[in-house]
Amino acid sequence: MSDAELVLRSTRVITPEGTRAASVAVSAGKITAVLPYDAEIPAGARLEDFGDHVLLPGLVDTHVHVNDPGRTEWEGFWTATRAAAAGGITTLIDMPLNSLPPTTTVPSLRVKQDVARDKAHIDVGFWGGALPDNVKDLRPLQDAGVFGFKAFLSPSGVDEFPHLDQDRLAQSLAEIAGFDGLLIVHAEDPHHLDAAPQQGGPRYADFLASRPRDAEDTAIANLIAQARRLRARVHILHLSSSDALPLIRAARAEGVCVTVETCPHYLTLTAEEVPDGASEFKCCPPIREAANRDLLWEALADGTIDCVVTDHSPSTADLKTDDFATAWGGISGLQLSLSAVWTEARARGHGLEDVVRWMSTRTAALVGLGASKGAIAPGHDADFAVLAPDETFTVDPAGLQHRNRVTAYAGKTLSGVVKSTWLRGQRIAVDGAFTEPKGTLLTRPQ
Ligand SMILES: [Zn+2]
Repeated sequence: MSDAELVLRSTRVITPEGTRAASVAVSAGKITAVLPYDAEIPAGARLEDFGDHVLLPGLVDTHVHVNDPGRTEWEGFWTATRAAAAGGITTLIDMPLNSLPPTTTVPSLRVKQDVARDKAHIDVGFWGGALPDNVKDLRPLQDAGVFGFKAFLSPSGVDEFPHLDQDRLAQSLAEIAGFDGLLIVHAEDPHHLDAAPQQGGPRYADFLASRPRDAEDTAIANLIAQARRLRARVHILHLSSSDALPLIRAARAEGVCVTVETCPHYLTLTAEEVPDGASEFKCCPPIREAANRDLLWEALADGTIDCVVTDHSPSTADLKTDDFATAWGGISGLQLSLSAVWTEARARGHGLEDVVRWMSTRTAALVGLGASKGAIAPGHDADFAVLAPDETFTVDPAGLQHRNRVTAYAGKTLSGVVKSTWLRGQRIAVDGAFTEPKGTLLTRPQ
């Protein structure tokens, strides 16, 4: 321990081996050792003692829309990464769409990296995008360090990011499988969406009927079939329909390489509670019924769903009109995701170790960062959140750090207060105050 510059001590440190009282030694931004609680502090090392607050690995959120540059009035790197830091997230991977340009060529990746570089309060990496006409750009993007490629199977909501039909999906997936890349997919089938009743207007029930479960189920079945045929790695984004779970379990059992995420809003909110006209609850696929939510929790518990990510996808408040058909679809969850998930998880008998596995360890592994992120273990980056798990707070939009303070959680009382957040051994957020940006731009480990 002689080389430690900093020692973080808590009676509850969440390590891969379980939760225990420990002292975590840090040097040059890395964890060097996880020592007994009462280990001697070396001369010259600074001690931070968090008492009974829980020390957990910083969260890794692999599904965030930062929208910068191009739609910076919706969200930007400065505000998004501050919101993330406030919520205990220390790494985010930015989605390729809703910024202009979208991240679908190497030059557009460079534009994004240049914009993010001086504004990132946490570590930031980038997904690339798979469009109908950019197959030739995929391998260069992979070589430039994107973490994988996002595709839509139905309209994305922005014109510059068109979706893939089944032929184009096969073409892109074959290319990506050729270099052992990862395709991440917004899985809703456009034909089922077209066939669904499109009432429009302020009634949530009408919106829910316009994005039926069978649109998700069919798209997922088609994707699994393509992944099986091409021996490709695919990841299902923001699963909402519990009806797709048997398909996914069966595909896994036969060895298809498919992973799955869901989001805090599908796990904590229900269709029954969404007021008519309240488009802060609009996202695609939609928040479904309470019984659906119970099945998503079962799938998290049994490992069918691998991980939980925010799909933080903000817009300006004026685009959140009371007509569910035309309002912008997206929920801003960065700052509240840990508390929201923890509140519901504990009520269902889960421990914080489970939350850490879903929101940090497995997301880090998904993007190939498992050797440096997602665990309090020697050799990992010294990224931490300090959580008071039993303290509660009521969500006041005025306290949110993301650019447009629209939230589906306003007025909710949540458990779990993030006391401070640490990136590479430096405290970057404490009590609503932040340091200057200290984030690093990440590329996929080769
Ligand atoms: Zn998204």
